Amino acid sequence: MNTVTEHRAATRVLVLNSGSSSLKYQLLDMRDAGRLAVGLVERIGEQTSRLRHTCVATGGTRELNGPMADHDAALKAVAGELARDGLGLDSPELAAIGHRVVHGGMFFTEPTVVDDAVLTEIERLIPVAPLHNPANLTGLRTAMALRPDLPQVAVFDTAFHTTMPESAARYAIDTKIADRHRVRRYGFHGTSHAYVSRETARLLGKAPDEVNVIVLHLGNGASASAVRGGRCVDTSMGLTPLEGLVMGTRSGDLDPAVIFHLQRVGGMSTDEIDTLLNKRSGLFGLCGDNDMREIRRRIDEGDEAAQLAFDIYIHRLKKYIGAYYAVLGSVDAVAFTAGVGENAAPVREAALAGLEGLGLAVDPARNAVRGDGARIISPRDARVAVAVVPTDEELEIATQTFALVGKDD
Ligand code: ADP
Repeated sequence: MNTVTEHRAATRVLVLNSGSSSLKYQLLDMRDAGRLAVGLVERIGEQTSRLRHTCVATGGTRELNGPMADHDAALKAVAGELARDGLGLDSPELAAIGHRVVHGGMFFTEPTVVDDAVLTEIERLIPVAPLHNPANLTGLRTAMALRPDLPQVAVFDTAFHTTMPESAARYAIDTKIADRHRVRRYGFHGTSHAYVSRETARLLGKAPDEVNVIVLHLGNGASASAVRGGRCVDTSMGLTPLEGLVMGTRSGDLDPAVIFHLQRVGGMSTDEIDTLLNKRSGLFGLCGDNDMREIRRRIDEGDEAAQLAFDIYIHRLKKYIGAYYAVLGSVDAVAFTAGVGENAAPVREAALAGLEGLGLAVDPARNAVRGDGARIISPRDARVAVAVVPTDEELEIATQTFALVGKDD
């Protein structure tokens, strides 16, 4: 009887997002999906590590400065801060820890309770996610060592895209070589695309399986997806997050021969080109800024490089909207999300300008309204709804984690 009571009381989920030198976390209570605490550790492994922790109930924020050698030290410091607020990791109310894992390959199509076999599989995927999966694994191992008795759930960025048909997921290269090296289109930001497509359906007053949605996740990284009846049928990122839209610092699509050219004619190494395309391209490469606020400010001052960067960004975005319109056949909604998508009205307006023939339009007054909630920005009589739908990847990870472990049985 007692265990049942305790089990029922376990309604909290800690969400961890481990980067190579950072650890973001949120503690949620799934009874009302409310935040109890949020925080971030930066510069792990350096002398100047910093933990910023906010307890939502009190609104108080604390900062801890000083060296944190590794993720283990960082997570212990986080556990200490949570305990100071009476939210410690040893609380019987903690149901599980949900981890963001970037690459789940073709193997992980759903959130998964992590055991040694799962760790091994995530490790096997390191060659296709060299930057992300090692950090995610470190976070998982650290949390498992700290609370070995607690379910630890991996929620994969790629999982939502595993429903893509082979026609969308495969590159047109030699199948044997592609299979041997697991070269195919996996897609990323899946947790966000899943959440936003579902929230868009809710905004329209429909069930997810009743609507076709084009989701435009425009943050520093950016990706588009075509979602038919709640299932992803295409997405713009590929083997890695480099493919697709113009991003803050990534080029997105380009002729692959650009790489051979830079090697043969430009004398650049593979690593140099990797850095160029991932870190020094996109908006930043085009005009020296990757923040859309700064780019808009420069455009207002008549800066031509900023204007051209914006135009290239919009041109690519528009091409993907058209492509996914064709992939879906009929579209109920286009949803903008993430930092740029939620905040930059000029991007939304420019991306859909001239698409009235497709039933797509933005109402200028509605588009100009700032707000935190999901909202429609198309004219009242529009054939296709255009929406701004704030993403919430932590809530989605917590929801998926709790759905897996939080049952009352
Ligand atoms: P990520 O999670 O990929 O780092 P976000 O979704 O937080 O990115 O988006 C960050 C980007 O959002 C910034 O680089 C900036 O370009 C853009 N952004 C944030 N706020 C605004 C705003 N008010 N207007 C225009 N762009 C904004």
